[in-house]
Amino acid sequence: MSNRAHNFCAGPASLPTAVLERAQAEMLNWQNRGVSVMEMSHRHKSFMDLTAQAEANLRQLMQIPDNYKVIFMQGGATAQFSLLPLNLLGDKAQVDFVDTGIWSTKAIKAMAPYGNANVIASSQGQNYLTVPQQADLKISSDSAFVHYCPNETIGGLAFDYIPETGDIPLVADMSSVILSEPIDVSKFGVIYAGAQKNIGPAGITLLIVRDDLLGKARFDTPGVFNYQSQWQNDSMLNTPPTYAWYLAALVFEWLLENGGLEAMGKQNRAKASALYSAIDSSSLYDNNINTANRSIMNVTFTLADEALNAVFLEQAEANGLLNLKGHRSVGGMRASIYNAVPMESIEALISFMQDFEQQHWK
Ligand SMILES: *Cc1c(COP(=O)(O)O)cnc(C)c1O
Repeated sequence: MSNRAHNFCAGPASLPTAVLERAQAEMLNWQNRGVSVMEMSHRHKSFMDLTAQAEANLRQLMQIPDNYKVIFMQGGATAQFSLLPLNLLGDKAQVDFVDTGIWSTKAIKAMAPYGNANVIASSQGQNYLTVPQQADLKISSDSAFVHYCPNETIGGLAFDYIPETGDIPLVADMSSVILSEPIDVSKFGVIYAGAQKNIGPAGITLLIVRDDLLGKARFDTPGVFNYQSQWQNDSMLNTPPTYAWYLAALVFEWLLENGGLEAMGKQNRAKASALYSAIDSSSLYDNNINTANRSIMNVTFTLADEALNAVFLEQAEANGLLNLKGHRSVGGMRASIYNAVPMESIEALISFMQDFEQQHWK
């Protein structure tokens, strides 16, 4: 699609062009029903078939074991920061947290009304350039679960291992890394992710919950935010965001047609490694995150002369390279290179960065 820009937005992020084309083709007349998919009852058999197929496809993609439930909710990953303690604390009063940056900190802060947020390890002292090691994780037997963020979207910092937490369930905010490569779901108690990075458009949130963790919600948890009641109602306790769900279903199909998560992982590693090599071989651009913890989804970098930031962004945009500005809280640049961002966009970015360096720095 020649008029599609190279879109490095952190979220809501790029969607596969093939998915958008299909949605466009099906917009006015879905499955020959004379209406769009967003203009029909979520309880209509054809829509229920779509959601059942979406779950089956997701289970196949992620190899989700049978003792895990797939639940869709609203409220984004941010709502989950509060819904996790409401649903999982049970008779415990504490949660262990690993702090690796802005998103894990938000989860820690949201815990306050519900119990004690026990920060067992943090890389704040290292300016979040690395992640705590397994040996640093002193997990408390009094905690209901251990929470961490495997990929810090803003910092561009990623775990290179899955923490071992013994009998205490591990809960992961996978918003910006889900579906980017194969993972072993059986290591987790709960995996959750807002959709707008690697799943679909904003408005729907995915939860994968080990079934022994259901049924512990506090009595005053609203039904629509209660994991067990949503699961019992096929995630349709009330009207779900049907169009977002439909687009997520199309993305799952697209992933299966394109080799699944093995193929995505390979491609994502190749994309990230090309971009990090370009940064490392330059004297203008810099990324000083511990090499093993560099994110393959969100590549952050700074310019040696900050005065060049504005002109860098302006010229990038003029060249069809969009949304490279880093998060307002950290500055610098960030290229988010989720599944839907093709290698050709990475190549276009690298070539622009090299030209820019020639003109303004060397
Ligand atoms: C984007 C993001 C969130 C916030 O998602 P919302 O859907 O806006 O609530 C939370 N955690 C991580 C890791 C994210 O990347």
